[in-house]
Amino acid sequence: MNVTIDRLAPESPSSTAPSSASPSSASPPKCCPTCDKTLNADLACWNCCDRLCASCHKPTGSAFVAVCWSCWFRAEQQKSTQATAAS
Ligand SMILES: [Zn+2]
Ligand SMILES: [Zn+2]
Repeated sequence: MNVTIDRLAPESPSSTAPSSASPSSASPPKCCPTCDKTLNADLACWNCCDRLCASCHKPTGSAFVAVCWSCWFRAEQQKSTQATAAS
């Protein structure tokens, strides 16, 4: 019986990957996209009671929500994936 076990080679970054990984080329907007008022340090607009996502800069729908639903969900998925990989 000939059983061939193909070991998967670990992925090695052969090419020089860009070390400075910028999450997004666009800098966070300084003004509210809805009312054009100046946002505060947390990217929140108290005129609209809305806040831009810290990750993707889309309005989260509430001035108290720092990260939009989709970004939060993605972060949770990554967390669970890392937890599974670690165990
Ligand atoms: Zn606004
Ligand atoms: Zn987001």
